[in-house]
Amino acid sequence: METKILKTDGQATDVNIIKEAAQVIREGGLVAFPTETVYGLGADACNLEASRKIYAAKGRPSDNPLIVHIACFADLERIALEVPGQARALADAFWPGPLTMIVKKNAAVPSETTGGLETVAVRMPDHPVALMLIRESGCLIAAPSANISGRPSPTIAAHVAADLEGRIPVILDGGEVGIGIESTIVDLTEETPSILRPGAVTEAMIASVIGAVQTDPGLLSEDSANRPKAPGMKYRHYAPEAELIVVDGSKEAVIQRINALAYELKAQGKRVGILCTDETSAAYRGNVIRSIGSRVDEEAIARHLYRVLREFDEAKTDVIYSESFAASGIGQAVMNRLLKAAGHRVLWA
Ligand code: AMP
Ligand code: MG
Repeated sequence: METKILKTDGQATDVNIIKEAAQVIREGGLVAFPTETVYGLGADACNLEASRKIYAAKGRPSDNPLIVHIACFADLERIALEVPGQARALADAFWPGPLTMIVKKNAAVPSETTGGLETVAVRMPDHPVALMLIRESGCLIAAPSANISGRPSPTIAAHVAADLEGRIPVILDGGEVGIGIESTIVDLTEETPSILRPGAVTEAMIASVIGAVQTDPGLLSEDSANRPKAPGMKYRHYAPEAELIVVDGSKEAVIQRINALAYELKAQGKRVGILCTDETSAAYRGNVIRSIGSRVDEEAIARHLYRVLREFDEAKTDVIYSESFAASGIGQAVMNRLLKAAGHRVLWA
C-alpha cells in the first residue's frame, strides 16, 4: 500500500487536507495524525473492521484496548453507559488535554475497540488538527500511538513513516507534538479513582479536582502477581532496539559509573549510547552521547525522550546507559516510560 503524507501547518487551517483524511476515516481506513501528546493511528471507533486494521498495522496484541478520541463532551455520552460526575469535573478542568478517562461502555463501542473489556478509554485531544479530523469525519476516532507495537511512540511524522510507511494509507503531518509522552489514564469505574498510567496531568492535579485518587499498585512494581490494570502497561514498551540500562545515584557517581561501564563495553567492540542532560553531557565518553535537555526543564525532557531513544537506534548502538530523572510532576511519567523501556534494569552508582 502506498502511504500518502499530507502536510498541514499544524493549525488546522488546511481544511481541504483534513477533509481528505476525514474521508479515509469515514470509509473505514487508517489515518495517522498529530495530537498534543504523541502521534495517533486513528480509525472509526464504532467500526469493528476499522479497529481491527489498527491492531494489524501496529502488530498490537488484540487484548490491548484503544483510546477513543472525541471532539466534544456530548460524544462521551454517546459511548458511556453512564457518565460519572467525576468525569464532568475532570473534563471541565483538563479537556481538551492529556487526560484519558476510563468509563463503562455502551453497545455503540464494539469490543474490538476495547480489547474485549466492558469499559472504554476516552480522551479529548488538545490539538487543532486532531479535533478537526474528528469533527470532519463525523466519527469518534480510536487511536493508539502510531508506532509499531513496542517501539518508542512517535513525536514527529517521520517517526510514523519509519514504522508504518507502506502499512497505512495516510499520515497527516502536523509538525512536532507539544508534550511528547502519552496521556495520563485515570480509571473512574471503581469506588476510588486510580491512575493506570502517569502523564502530564499529575496525580496532584487530579486530586485537586476530585479528591481521593490512587496510583495503580501494578504500575510501580514488576511483581507479576500485581498486574497493571491498563493491559498495555504489562508489555515491554516504548523500547529502543538496543539494551537500555538506567543508572541512578548522585550526579558525580552516575557520571563515573557510566563512563567506567562504557569504557569496558567499548573495549569489547560494542557501540555504547549515553542518554544524559545538558548539565552533564560534556563529562561523558561514549560512542553516541545524546542530551534530552536541561534538568531544570522537565517538559523539554518529556518532549525529547522518544526522539532520542529512536536516535540511538539510528546510530546502531548496542547498549544505552541512561541517567535517571526526578519521580515527581511530569518527571514521574518520564521515569515510568524510561523504566519500561529498560525492562526495569536499574544500576545504583
Ligand atoms: P496507547 O494508545 O498506545 O497509548 O495505549 C492505550 C493505553 O490505554 C494502553 O496502555 C491500554 O491498555 C490503556 N487502555 C485503553 N482502554 C482501557 C480500558 N478500557 N481499561 C484499562 N486500560 C485501557
Ligand atoms: Mg502506545
